[in-house]
Amino acid sequence: MIVEMKKGALQEQVNTVVERARSFGFDVQLNQGTDKVVVAILGSDTGKAPSDAFAVLPGVESVTRVMKPYKLASREFNRRASKVKAGDIEIGGKKIVIMAGPCAVESQKQLMDTAKSVQKLGAKVVRGGAFKPRTSPFAFQGLEDEGIKLLAKVKSDLGMLVISEIVDVEHIELLAKHIDILQVGARNMQNYSLLKELAKVRQPVLLKRGLSATVTEWLTAADYLMAEGNKKVILCERGIRTFEDSTRFAMDISSIPVIKRFSHLPIIVDPSHAAGHFEYVPSIAKAAIAAGADGLLIEVHPKPEEALVDGLQSLNLKNFQKLMSELKPIAEAVGREI
Ligand code: PEP
Ligand code: MN
Repeated sequence: MIVEMKKGALQEQVNTVVERARSFGFDVQLNQGTDKVVVAILGSDTGKAPSDAFAVLPGVESVTRVMKPYKLASREFNRRASKVKAGDIEIGGKKIVIMAGPCAVESQKQLMDTAKSVQKLGAKVVRGGAFKPRTSPFAFQGLEDEGIKLLAKVKSDLGMLVISEIVDVEHIELLAKHIDILQVGARNMQNYSLLKELAKVRQPVLLKRGLSATVTEWLTAADYLMAEGNKKVILCERGIRTFEDSTRFAMDISSIPVIKRFSHLPIIVDPSHAAGHFEYVPSIAKAAIAAGADGLLIEVHPKPEEALVDGLQSLNLKNFQKLMSELKPIAEAVGREI
C-alpha cells in the first residue's frame, strides 16, 4: 500500500501514518521527494488492513493499493492455468467445450429434442434454466423442480452433462444432486451469501460476469467460491452494460486475454446474452474462440419462434450446425480443438 502525503505535510502527520502502519504489524519505507513524502507500507497481508484507516489521517493526499484484492483466483496464487473437470470433460484444456441448449427448460420434448441434436453436433453439455431470474415477476419463471428432473433425465438417457442456473441457497441440495455444473447468473455474481454456500459443493460452479462488474470485482467474487476449498470455478463472460444499445449487452472480448493474464481460471463466453439477436451470435462466438476462450455457452432452440424465453437470441439447429463447422478452423488456428 502506498500512502502519498500532501505537499507540506507536517513531520508529525507522517509519524502518525508510520505508527498506524506499525500498529497493524507492517514495515514502512519512507521516500522523501523534493516536495512530498511517500510512505510505502510493506507486508504480505496489507490487503487485510482497510485503506481508509490511512486515507482519513490528516496530511494524507491519497492511498493506493499495490496488491490486487483477489488472491485465490489470481495467477500469482496458481501460476499454471487450471483445468476444471466435470464428468469426463475438462474445461481449460486443449479442447474447446461447447455447452448448448435452450434458455429455459420448457417441456420434456423440447429439452430432449434439443439435447439430442446439439449432442450430435458436438456439444458436450446441455444447458437449460429451470429457475429463471426474470426481470419481470410476471414473466415465465421456469419449470423449477420439474425442470431439474427433466435435466436429470436427459443426463441419464443421453449421457450428457447438464448445466443449470442456481438462484437461491435453498435449491442447492436439489441442484447439487442432479446438475453437473451450477451456473451463477450475472444478476447473482455478487450475491455473497449464495457464493459462500456454493463454495461448499463438490460440483464445478460457472460464475457469470455481473452486468456492470469490473474484471477485478468478478475475480474477487470468484475468491468467495474458492475460499472454502472448491477449486472448480469456471468464469463466463456474457457481455456488460455500456451506452451502446444496438446489442443487448456489449461483449467484452478483451476480458478474455485480461482474465488469462491475471487469473488461472478457465473462461468461457456466452455470446447469446451479449448479442440479444441470433444474427450476431456466430460472429461473437467465433471472436471469443479466436481470443482464447475455453468454451462457449450458447442458446439453441429447435423452434426459436415458440421459445418461452430468449427466442430472438437463440440459434435454430441449422444455424448452430453452421456455427459448429465454422468454429473448427478458428479453434485450430489458435492451437485448440473442438
Ligand atoms: C442465462 O444464461 O439464461 C441467463 C439468465 O444469463 P445471464 O445471467 O448472463 O443474464
Ligand atoms: Mn437466456
